[in-house]
Amino acid sequence: KEGLTKTRDQFVTKVEEILTGRRKIDEDLYEELEEVLIRSDVGVTTSLELVQRLRQEVKKRKLSEAQELREVLKEEIADLLGEEVPLQFAESGPSVLLVVGVNGVGKTTTIGKLAHYFQDEGKKVILAAGDTFRAAAIDQLEIWGQRAGVEVIKQREGADPAAVAFDAIHYAKTRSVDLIIMDTAGRLHNKVNLMEELKKVKRVIEREIPGAPHEVLLVLDATTGQNALQQAKIFQEAAGVTGIVLTKLDGTAKGGVVLGIQGEVKIPVKWVGVGEGMEDLRPFVPQDFANALFS
Ligand code: GDP
Repeated sequence: KEGLTKTRDQFVTKVEEILTGRRKIDEDLYEELEEVLIRSDVGVTTSLELVQRLRQEVKKRKLSEAQELREVLKEEIADLLGEEVPLQFAESGPSVLLVVGVNGVGKTTTIGKLAHYFQDEGKKVILAAGDTFRAAAIDQLEIWGQRAGVEVIKQREGADPAAVAFDAIHYAKTRSVDLIIMDTAGRLHNKVNLMEELKKVKRVIEREIPGAPHEVLLVLDATTGQNALQQAKIFQEAAGVTGIVLTKLDGTAKGGVVLGIQGEVKIPVKWVGVGEGMEDLRPFVPQDFANALFS
């Protein structure tokens, strides 16, 4: 699978190295596996949990050959990733997809890709420029709006993001828009203000459209490994994240962070970014990921 090549090369090659040959299952083997998992950014907690599950299965199935672990590991990874969780939409009227994340993770690019994706599906999409903190963020969003061929609702730099949300919702209601994708600020150095701002934006959306936002997508950069895991915890608390978009999976050999996120924060990864272009976004299918790792 695209975007996974590097992860597969590093992670799976290492796993294969450990498991091949006529090796027996022993304590050293478990330790080596643990190390490979941790080094692939799976995270310590999830790595330990995975290896613990392997031990149990080995006992239960009375396995003794290292090679037999390959299938068990694949099953346990698939199990950890769980079922695909579909995106939620409004039954009628506009749906709101709120996009949150720290600056630089690929939030704007992801919004452009999502706009293109849903537009392609026949939905009428608009963007809302809710990162009013930086003029450049508004400009960048406009560029993506033009590329994707969708309207961008904006106000000037420094405007209240909640007011932008209000405008966008009003526009959407009067012009039968199906989907509002809303950008938000990502300046984490001022964490308290940022989180308050997100909560306010959410309140306005909830008030204007009961049941909205239908999705709160958190954008995380796969190349930042354990930082991504930390960000997930912070945003989950403040914004009630319903799904994750993991970007730059094409640029890392550490796709294991997907497992760490599922294992520790239990938020489903719903999309992955595999490049800088408008088409480089893929719905994340957990079982495919598990299969692709070992194919
Ligand atoms: P923002 O500050 O979070 O809005 O980040 P941007 O959307 O401006 O993206 C930051 C950089 O990451 C840009 O150079 C993007 O082209 C790049 N980028 C975004 N998503 C991906 C991806 O999936 N793969 C790769 N390789 N680059 C990406």
